[in-house]
Amino acid sequence: MPKEKNIETIGNLRKEIDSLDDKIFEYLARRLKVSSMILESKAGNGFELVDLDRELLIINKLKKKYRLNLKPDFIESTVRLILRESKRQSKIIDKGGHDFMFIAGPCVVESAEQIQRIAGELSTFGIKYLRGGNFKPRTSPGSFQGLGGQGIEYLKNAAEKYEMKTVTEILDSGEMDRWYDMIDIIQVGSRNMSSFGLLKQIGKRTAKDGKPVLLKRGFSSTISEFLSAAEYIISEGNENVILCLRGIRSFEQIDSKFRNTPDLASILEVKARSNLKVIFDPSHASGNSNYVPALSKAAIDLGADGLMVEYHYSPGKALIDGKQSVNKKKFAEIIKSVNSIRI
Ligand code: PEP
Ligand code: MN
Repeated sequence: MPKEKNIETIGNLRKEIDSLDDKIFEYLARRLKVSSMILESKAGNGFELVDLDRELLIINKLKKKYRLNLKPDFIESTVRLILRESKRQSKIIDKGGHDFMFIAGPCVVESAEQIQRIAGELSTFGIKYLRGGNFKPRTSPGSFQGLGGQGIEYLKNAAEKYEMKTVTEILDSGEMDRWYDMIDIIQVGSRNMSSFGLLKQIGKRTAKDGKPVLLKRGFSSTISEFLSAAEYIISEGNENVILCLRGIRSFEQIDSKFRNTPDLASILEVKARSNLKVIFDPSHASGNSNYVPALSKAAIDLGADGLMVEYHYSPGKALIDGKQSVNKKKFAEIIKSVNSIRI
């Protein structure tokens, strides 16, 4: 084809692109308007504002319809982006900084006194979610495994005293059933993210009351695997899943002091692909309390919906993970970063 002809063809194709872009944005604007009308009407009638089943239905329908022309991943992330924007633009869905979910507490509950003291100190900072491990997934069976049910009781008592909610990990469904009423947020740890049987059991059990489930990213899992794990819980009927990024294992661990590589940029990706709350755990992500304040700030800047931070009044004496637990001074630094988003 002669050069002039080529230039003409490109010019025409560009005109087509411009007109397509125009249409796409005209439709996007219309879509946002209609969805905000739906939200207003739902709010007026006291209906649930977000319907995750319907969102999934929309995604699957489009994936099926356009499977020959577009990649399923592209369809999913585009729809999720649009859905997220609809909610972001809506005046009804509260996206204020005050619902930032800040979970803090020791790696492990060590005694009634320890957790009482920690709960007391954290509550002076306004922390509402108290974490504390009791069934610890330790690498070696010989290592201290936590206080079990006794520890959950200590955790619950401390939380009640300071009007906090409890967050703790369970390793199997027996533990969940036995201690269900004492746990406000059920934690699934990194090592169990792919225990699909457990995820299903948790999904089934929590479907009845919508109890929140905090799902931590497997340290060797891709983002797609992480999101699919959440789907295991959601598809059993509980949409109240909180995603927690906690660092991944990479070659960096060969000669750096990082316990894991902080997967901070994944906050952006996970939030683009999911409507669930995405929180960040700077303690396990780095393994070093000196890095925890800066990583917390970075996570907030990247749009994390919350943090989970390991705290101890005396990190040097902590039975597990003292190296990555912050003391009061470092914790105050983190609180400063959190407060900066509340203005
Ligand atoms: C924890 O948060 O207590 C924990 C064990 O973390 P992870 O599952 O991310 O290793
Ligand atoms: Mn820990």
